[in-house]
Amino acid sequence: MPSPGSFPLSHKGFPVPYITAWSAETADDRPLVAHQGRLQYHPSLPGDFDSHGVLWLHQRIAPGAGTPLFSTVHTPRQRRAMLRFLCQICGEPADRTAEGILWLLPGPITGAVEGEVTTHPPVCAGCAPIALAHCPSLRRNVTALRARRPEADHLYGTFYCLTPGGPVATRHAHTVREGYPQPWFRAAHIAVSLNGVTPVRLTRLR
Ligand SMILES: [Zn+2]
Repeated sequence: MPSPGSFPLSHKGFPVPYITAWSAETADDRPLVAHQGRLQYHPSLPGDFDSHGVLWLHQRIAPGAGTPLFSTVHTPRQRRAMLRFLCQICGEPADRTAEGILWLLPGPITGAVEGEVTTHPPVCAGCAPIALAHCPSLRRNVTALRARRPEADHLYGTFYCLTPGGPVATRHAHTVREGYPQPWFRAAHIAVSLNGVTPVRLTRLR
């Protein structure tokens, strides 16, 4: 297990972000069942639900084991990064100034950025150039901003419907406001509302 401060790990000479899942970090293979009017794992274990009563996707924790799955976000590390506003690349505290915490979002955001909801954790100043240089989704188009009042108030996950054969995942994932757990929902990521937003010039980050 990597020690604190050892992120980002590297693979074949490329940095691997803190929130990237590795191939050994497989998802919990317990089946999902309907029990007392809601979704749960079988068997149910302590820690399956958070303090708000939300069922979470469970995943092994073994960063550095196997190969990095760059398109897959590791649920426990993403949750930790969002709840503590840690850098998605190195896992250390994200950059914070009087104008707020630093975020890099893929794509040009048209319209109101204020209140934008994102599942991307923030970044630190040292990792911003690394993310801009190596992350394919940020290389094409990126919006940089600071948020003074980010709020981890949404969840991203999958809704299930109950069928005679058991719960079945519906095709689309959704965001819902935390604090109102849905009985047929399994969360995979925390999403943050970006409030008090100030745009940041990319030339100041590279
Ligand atoms: Zn960092």
